[in-house]
Amino acid sequence: MSFDYAGRVHRLQTSMADRGVDAVVLSVGADLPYFTGYEAIQTERLTVLVVRQEGGPVLFVPELEVPRVGPGEFEVRAWGETDDPVALASAVGGSPSKVAVGNHMWSAFLVRFQKQWPHASWLPASDLTGDLRMIKEPAEIELLRQAAHGVDRVMTRIPTEVRFAGRTEREVSRQLSEMTIEEGHDVAEFAIVASGPNGASPHHEPEDRVIQDGDLVVCDFGGRRGGYFSDSTRTFSVGEPSASQIDLHAVVLAANQAARSAIAPGVACEDIDRAARRVIDEAGYGEFFIHRTGHGIGLEVHEHPYMVEGNKAPLETGMTFSVEPGIYIPDLAGVRIEDIVACGDMGADSLNESNRELVVVI
Ligand code: ZN
Ligand code: ZN
Repeated sequence: MSFDYAGRVHRLQTSMADRGVDAVVLSVGADLPYFTGYEAIQTERLTVLVVRQEGGPVLFVPELEVPRVGPGEFEVRAWGETDDPVALASAVGGSPSKVAVGNHMWSAFLVRFQKQWPHASWLPASDLTGDLRMIKEPAEIELLRQAAHGVDRVMTRIPTEVRFAGRTEREVSRQLSEMTIEEGHDVAEFAIVASGPNGASPHHEPEDRVIQDGDLVVCDFGGRRGGYFSDSTRTFSVGEPSASQIDLHAVVLAANQAARSAIAPGVACEDIDRAARRVIDEAGYGEFFIHRTGHGIGLEVHEHPYMVEGNKAPLETGMTFSVEPGIYIPDLAGVRIEDIVACGDMGADSLNESNRELVVVI
């Protein structure tokens, strides 16, 4: 997949001019592939892209990694083992008074850049790139949709192919990751399997607990396909659910639906959070919904925009984010239902389409 990288750099340069940023320096992290198509290796050898307000970007790459770099809309400069890449990159950057630095640049490099430019003021690159990256191009949305459909197929296979009772969370997690790869992902990045009382921990790390008949099990997994992330959650019932489990799940499903229904261009991000929270509050579980309703998703699994109280930024067509309300009752159980959605002109376009009902597994 190729994108209009020159157009993206041009929009970044416009944003730099608006904010008086003289140089942007990007190393590892998702900003670099967003603007160049090149993903750097995370090592002690610095790869860094220098963007100024005028002219084309310059990518400094360790000499031995140059063969990895495809042709692109940037100039490649190799640095050798005895060169100082920070000094070389700083020379290209000139004498900036304001520098935006990639959020994931290692501090080991940042402190050296700061010595090169002692009078500059600094800001995280996401202050500029976040606004650009959160509006997806149609081709990006299609990649996110393909990734979402991959995990949907796994969700659909779970009731017939995954046995829960008597197996550990770790075993089920490993199987979900394998199925995610089978369904076309390049990488399975995470597979939360949180059973019974462990479901009360939203980011539970799968462990050796043996899953029991009567458990609710939160399965939240995803990975990368074509560079873009998937991230979906369904909650399953091991054996027939109790009345209270059915009720809990129904409340979360109603919250998920309310949030998705509230999505439209112009609606504040916090209103998506409020739409989900209102349903859970009114059902009496408000104190057990302990996280924001959603996060942006794209080249990173968590990025702007965030569906959280206080974020008054309006939704725009092309934004992609999760809707993932949950209820977490300590020592008892958890339920979460998560979909990735795109904000379209007419409202939410759910990229995940797998069954959201409480499905019984064995
Ligand atoms: Zn998730
Ligand atoms: Zn998520």
